Amino acid sequence: MLDFTRYLRPDEVEAALQAFAAAHPTLCTISAIGQSHEGRSIWCATLTNQATGPDREKPAFWLDANIHATEVTGCMGALHVIQSLLGRYGNDPRVTQLLNERALYIVPCLNPDGMEQALTSPIYVRSGTRRYPYADERDGLYPADIDGDGQILDMRIADPDGGWKISEHDPRLMRRRAPDEVGGRYYRVYTEGLIRGYDGTQVKIAPPAQGLDFNRNFPYIWAPEGEQHGAGPFPTSEPEVRAAVAFLVDHPNVSCAIAYHTFSGVLLRPYSDKPDDQLPIEDLWTFKEIGERGKALTGYPHVSVYHGFRYHPRQVMSGAFDDWAYHQLGIFAWTVELWDMVGAAGIKERDFIEWFRNHPEEDDLKLLRWNDEQIGGRGFVPWRPFTHPQLGEVEIGGWIERRTFGNPPEELLEATLAPNTEFVIAHALMTPRLELRQATVDALGAGLFRVRATVANSGYLPTYGSKRAEAVQAVRPIEVELKLAAGAELVTGELRQTIGQLEGRANKRALWGADYPTDNLHRMEWSIRAPDGGTILITAAGQRAGTARVELQLG
Ligand SMILES: [Zn+2]
Repeated sequence: MLDFTRYLRPDEVEAALQAFAAAHPTLCTISAIGQSHEGRSIWCATLTNQATGPDREKPAFWLDANIHATEVTGCMGALHVIQSLLGRYGNDPRVTQLLNERALYIVPCLNPDGMEQALTSPIYVRSGTRRYPYADERDGLYPADIDGDGQILDMRIADPDGGWKISEHDPRLMRRRAPDEVGGRYYRVYTEGLIRGYDGTQVKIAPPAQGLDFNRNFPYIWAPEGEQHGAGPFPTSEPEVRAAVAFLVDHPNVSCAIAYHTFSGVLLRPYSDKPDDQLPIEDLWTFKEIGERGKALTGYPHVSVYHGFRYHPRQVMSGAFDDWAYHQLGIFAWTVELWDMVGAAGIKERDFIEWFRNHPEEDDLKLLRWNDEQIGGRGFVPWRPFTHPQLGEVEIGGWIERRTFGNPPEELLEATLAPNTEFVIAHALMTPRLELRQATVDALGAGLFRVRATVANSGYLPTYGSKRAEAVQAVRPIEVELKLAAGAELVTGELRQTIGQLEGRANKRALWGADYPTDNLHRMEWSIRAPDGGTILITAAGQRAGTARVELQLG
């Protein structure tokens, strides 16, 4: 049992997954879906009751985490989902039904190399540890722990040209200098580090040595480095991304997905590059309906990246997982940004991105107060003098970002994860699901039998998942097959036929909705001639909705 009081390293995550599988062999199996750049296994836990059928014959949900190295909350969140499902199976009817009828593919650490570095080194890495875009070292300021305290913080340096000054309200706080402000003591603020190729005057900022961003490497409007930082040399060039893409293409039973990230406390959805009116309207309604469930369970609002989470107001992001999964496969895919320190400090209504560009000093004071009162001051290192080998007298201090903005302090981890586990459970229960009902055999005499059955979709989503999936033919029509015993012959009907798709409870958005048809049902009928006592098998298979089987006795 994990207690979620600390962040686990990749080898501990692997051990935890092995322990889950060993303790619950009928509900949890683990397998490697690929290898990282440094050769670590990328583990996937498959959760389903194997006694009720193999995972590939069940509708499925995908959850991955930690594609961004320092966003270690995500990995713990995925482990929290696994432990909750295994612990609640047999006690909680929702979870029991979920694992009996459906499968979850959970990759707690899609990027083990980056996560290992994030947990063992103060050097920031966005995703992968491979050097990119430059193989060699470049001139400029690069991050380094120059005072040996184990952290890379900020350096402030007195400079009459500086754009910062010390707040009058709290000496820890740096405030922007007003455009017309003169006559004060001003500072430049840099990341703690050293300057390669320093000429004694000019400070350049070196490009990141490990500049890959795996969440820009997916094959959706992929763009090269000059247009999209971190993109990598070509789509799926990175083995971690390729593993996720190959797995999902190979598992058409997945209709819904979440990627766990930090931070902001928001449920993000496609698209990143175009407005909502360019989604099929039914998919937009469904995304919003799922998002409302998520909001009720997590307290996080839901918004498209284009409308509510753009890093630059005039640029769009390319190569992201959720866009790719929706656009190519029609998967209802989300990026869940776990943890919201800004909100925790009492700053509620805000634009998630623009707030970081510009916000009132009052907000900064709230953050420092939250640090002092809620986490014992552990999130902020007060400025202290240090003699920099190149720049001379500086002060080093500031937020320990990875343990404040970036991830919750350990004592708040479980409270951050638990509501999101409920959203995963809810979302996975929304997947389509095929059933065979009312299967009957009537003996008509003279060796003739009439066989009937109803193919039903009991899920919220239609059997094709999304309109996007239907449009790009990501999902084949449902196939129904009748297998006869030896000696039997078909008189009417077809042994193998496609019946199209079945609707669910989604996409029901007429203004007056009282008279929806039973369009989740399809009635089948055959007549066969056969000796008494044989058996026949009816199979209905949908790629997203799973496979249903029923065996019937003749006579
Ligand atoms: Zn992220």
